Amino acid sequence: MAVNLLDFDLEGLAAFCEGLGEKRFRAVQLYRWVHQKGQADFEQMSDLAKSLRGKLAGAAEVRGLPLISEHVSADGTTKWLFDVADGNAVETVFIPETDRGTLCVSSQAGCAVGCRFCSTGHQGFSRNLSTGEIIAQLWFAEHRLRQTLGLKEGERAIDNVVMMGMGEPLQNYSALVPALRTMLDDHAYGLSRRRVTVSTSGVVPMIDRLRDDCPVALAVSLHAPDDTLRDHLVPLNRKYPIEELLDACVRYLSAAPRDFITFEYCMLDGVNDTPEHAQALVKLLKTRLPCKLNLIPFNPFPASGLLRSPRERVQAFAQVLQAAGIVTTVRKTRGDDIDAACGQLAGEVQDRTNARDRLARQRAVIPIVAGGPA
Ligand code: SF4
Repeated sequence: MAVNLLDFDLEGLAAFCEGLGEKRFRAVQLYRWVHQKGQADFEQMSDLAKSLRGKLAGAAEVRGLPLISEHVSADGTTKWLFDVADGNAVETVFIPETDRGTLCVSSQAGCAVGCRFCSTGHQGFSRNLSTGEIIAQLWFAEHRLRQTLGLKEGERAIDNVVMMGMGEPLQNYSALVPALRTMLDDHAYGLSRRRVTVSTSGVVPMIDRLRDDCPVALAVSLHAPDDTLRDHLVPLNRKYPIEELLDACVRYLSAAPRDFITFEYCMLDGVNDTPEHAQALVKLLKTRLPCKLNLIPFNPFPASGLLRSPRERVQAFAQVLQAAGIVTTVRKTRGDDIDAACGQLAGEVQDRTNARDRLARQRAVIPIVAGGPA
């Protein structure tokens, strides 16, 4: 199979081009055509030498992910479902806001961490995505949105990426980092480090590696103020308990592009949402490190056996944290009507036994686009 150019960051592409006997500036040109212009056809890359186009035609391709479906919510949130073969699919969600456009990107088909409140976790783990499969989500979404929103040359649809879709990104580290580098590269998407966020359930050694290799904004799924409860909600806590996790967060701050860590906290009715839990959270975090709390209204799904905390309890919880001086936000739920809200990203594929049948049914309704934004 031809090499997929989406698998490379700029250094990787330069090495590939060198193997074809081409200089580095040719790799930069090619990288810009692919990522900045969304071009997949080498013949259309008009300033590339004809000889290079000929070499590429035989050795490489720009291979996006086959699109299974596209749903646009009443609030403009857009969810794409992509086929990643063998009956697996991953979801990517675009969330438009007045001042920015955020893309939520998946890193794995399924997830091995198995958080109790997460429908992806209930689905189980299938496999890691490649770098090309991660970046293909941004490549597709950026260029698709430029067309549908009618943006002019140089205007950007997505200026914020959160690795908060399906999967634990730090358990797919070797594919993640080149994808992050392409997101950040000025010859590709040119996103600010502050506007690319890796969200992790707490893979401590990889938090340290990310700090050294490619520091971007960090969000940590906390969800509990003590190990007993967190062991239950986030099974990875048994391996990397809260104290070790917070130590890693403090170390991360030395290189982080933001001077705080974001902690995500999913509000579960009667489980982790009492004033006592809020007080314990204050005690845990207040003097430990600069941080922000993001309270997430839970999106119930049948297999979880859990319920969303009532709005008043979420507000009361937030007030305890705010009164203690911890910046706290309550995440707005977006795209509820298309199952694109946080924690719903396995809605289409949670029953893996029938995944092939379901994907085939969806294809019958919505024709597959052969992996290109155009
Ligand atoms: S919350 Fe994240 S880490 Fe936990 S199961 Fe879901 S996808 Fe995996």
